[in-house]
Amino acid sequence: MTAAPREPRVVLITGTSSGIGLATAIATARAGFATVATLRDPARAEKLREAADRAAVRLDIRRLDVTEPDSVARCVDGVRETYGRLDAVVNNAGVSNFDPTLEMSTTEALRANLEVNFFGVVEVSRAAMPLLRAARGRLVTLGSVHGNVGQPFNEAYCAAKFAVEGFMESLAPVAEAHGVKVSVVVPGFVRDTSFGIFPDINRKTIEAASGPYAGTFADYIHWVTHQGWEGAGQTAAEVADVVVRTLRAERPGFRVPTNPWAAAYLANKLTDRDGSVVQDLARTWIGLRQEPDDTEQER
Ligand code: NAP
Repeated sequence: MTAAPREPRVVLITGTSSGIGLATAIATARAGFATVATLRDPARAEKLREAADRAAVRLDIRRLDVTEPDSVARCVDGVRETYGRLDAVVNNAGVSNFDPTLEMSTTEALRANLEVNFFGVVEVSRAAMPLLRAARGRLVTLGSVHGNVGQPFNEAYCAAKFAVEGFMESLAPVAEAHGVKVSVVVPGFVRDTSFGIFPDINRKTIEAASGPYAGTFADYIHWVTHQGWEGAGQTAAEVADVVVRTLRAERPGFRVPTNPWAAAYLANKLTDRDGSVVQDLARTWIGLRQEPDDTEQER
């Protein structure tokens, strides 16, 4: 007797109009997931559709703005109606911002960044959690090495990404006790995305906006352009492969650096490189067994 074919697992990804989200949507569809590729502006879906055509995969493209709770709820309800299940969420949507230090920036700019990069992640995760619990599913969020190591002139983004890691690290053992594995995938520098591209902002405008910090900013830019990210760069497709591996792993790690550079950079801050020390500790606090994970990256 042949076993009945397993239903495709359903994954919802946020922010798929470009970059890592787009690459992840294609990679999950290729890997056999029914892929709900969401974006805030359906008019910006052309690149995604073209990529899907080229890869000969089907995507279920839907609207979801992570800063609009109604749009999040509508989208998750729609997935429940269509598929009756949701096995995984990839919180990918994110923004960078031009952030010329505490004194020169505004609280509004800080809040705007956290709205997307932190509260957006929270909103989507909360809306999806009942379905993820039912499916004993996965909650994967794109973090950043800047969520562990503070980066000069990047305060809002670092604050938001640190918040994401703290939130997920706190949630992970409790979610695991209810069947949901939580991971944060941590890239370093990804070359082929729209991240940090501001057509109206150039070195001159940044220096002007940096006021008394202009000299420090110039030193920082010198470091960035001469040695800053040497060896860091990878492609969105490479990051997407790590996300798929994390979704498929029997026992995914909590913190999953996307290449050896990211792992080494994190080690500047952490001795607990893959998050297993803190997770194992927290597991014992709530009566879970300690488990080895199988998504360790090369060191
Ligand atoms: P990207 O190409 O700019 O993609 C960001 C995506 O987020 C876009 O699809 C964007 O949609 C979407 N988005 C922004 N605000 C949204 C909202 N309110 N609701 C829903 N979607 C929204 O950048 P990326 O590099 O692929 O970034 C993806 C993730 O990776 C982010 O979380 C980022 O922090 C993280 N990351 C990136 C790097 C890197 O070097 N690029 C490194 C580490 C981590 P629109 O097209 O509509 O704006």
